[in-house]
Amino acid sequence: MRVKLKFKKIVDEFQLDLVERDSISGKGMVIDSIFQNNVSVSFTHTNNKITIQPKYPFAGIEYTYTIKYSGIPKDGLIIGENIHGDRTFFGDNWPNRAHNWFPCVDHPSDKATVEYLIKAPDHYQVIANGYQLEETNITADLKQFHWKTTVPIPTKVMVIGIAQFAVQNIGETHHVPVSTWVYPQTKEQGFYDFSIAKKILAFFIENIGEYPYQKLANVQSRTRFGGMENAGVIFYFEKSVTGKQEHEDLIAHEIAHQWFGNSATEIDWPHVWLSEGFATYLTDLYVLEKKGAAAFQERIQNERKTVLNFFKRKQTPVVDTRTTNYMQLLNANSYQKGAWVLHMLRNELGDETFWKGIRTYYQKYKSKNASTADFRNVMEEVSGKKLAVFFEQWLFKTGHPILKTNWIYHSNKVRLIVDQMQETAFDFPLDLELIYADGSSEIKTINVLYKSAPFVIETTGTVKDIKLDPNTQLLFELADK
Ligand SMILES: [Zn+2]
Repeated sequence: MRVKLKFKKIVDEFQLDLVERDSISGKGMVIDSIFQNNVSVSFTHTNNKITIQPKYPFAGIEYTYTIKYSGIPKDGLIIGENIHGDRTFFGDNWPNRAHNWFPCVDHPSDKATVEYLIKAPDHYQVIANGYQLEETNITADLKQFHWKTTVPIPTKVMVIGIAQFAVQNIGETHHVPVSTWVYPQTKEQGFYDFSIAKKILAFFIENIGEYPYQKLANVQSRTRFGGMENAGVIFYFEKSVTGKQEHEDLIAHEIAHQWFGNSATEIDWPHVWLSEGFATYLTDLYVLEKKGAAAFQERIQNERKTVLNFFKRKQTPVVDTRTTNYMQLLNANSYQKGAWVLHMLRNELGDETFWKGIRTYYQKYKSKNASTADFRNVMEEVSGKKLAVFFEQWLFKTGHPILKTNWIYHSNKVRLIVDQMQETAFDFPLDLELIYADGSSEIKTINVLYKSAPFVIETTGTVKDIKLDPNTQLLFELADK
């Protein structure tokens, strides 16, 4: 493998991640040699890190390190039989399992372009990130494949897939070719299931901006996840193929990641909601567009339930700097609460400003990295509103408002007390639906700011009931009486 890099300043040594072979399992990698351009360099390989002493490094000049290594990957490149008993090879790197099979800086902030030269027996097909440069018959039964990306991507989404595939090119949308790669045994079902990808891709291009990669391939695979958003080459779980188009929302989620997560990438793991919360809410907005308000409401209500249930088990903020087991960050905070933060932001700013902010954030951070503060800055600039309190309370604090209300009605006035039962007060608008004695209703909005506050609301008739948050716009729960 060749690694190209530049030194920003002169260093005595630098490190790359690569899992080393352990004598018990026999799995892991052994390095044979490392060359800097054509000169052998000394290195050590311990604690799954390669430490390389460069020869005469100058700042700002590109060096190529050729690392010759071999072994059986412990993880990251999943080799084995698929559901049909055929041998397959699938990269599955999230969060930082890439360095099980290639040397890299295995962190989302260190992006690179990548090229794969793969020799495989000719009964296999090979798919990877980027576009295909070459497919050559080397011998009667051996082929060489060459795939290459033109834009930098994080290691978590750098993959190859080698298997017996049925491949269908389903045409282009906005000049992006879309294809389906499924196991040949169930090709009709698979081709049908993934044929919806084109319209999903079109929706996101039209709403977010140009697609970051050269192609979109949807691939049946052995990923451990439901779907894994690998850049331009999305891997789905084996049993996603049913012939019933059951996974439209999963496909939408993974396609949304191409912009958020893959291209505009979180700067570090605690900010992973910028990836998962975005993919979740953009899927909700896709559903809103394609299936209407009722389907959308149902999704966000379910997402709110998931957040409230998760909070009963675990009290951590969305931006969680303490969890070091990154798999545990794939939780309701990153997905559903992240989605709810965007939902409340959209209600706060209005649909048009919200989408403008999403587009602006993408344009500013595409192929780069961003933090939660970077996203906030963009949304503040676009909307002209101060969002410090909003971001702080919903993303950096644990929990959500737990509300208790008491009210009385007397001569065209409702006197209402709102108590926030959680530890610290939140600041939020609250919609109240006043249900009148004649069956009509009216929505009034109050701004809740303190732990306990009284409100007087003018009404146009006799109020017989009040419904909180009738349009599902606030992440909250009702206190037990
Ligand atoms: Zn995701």
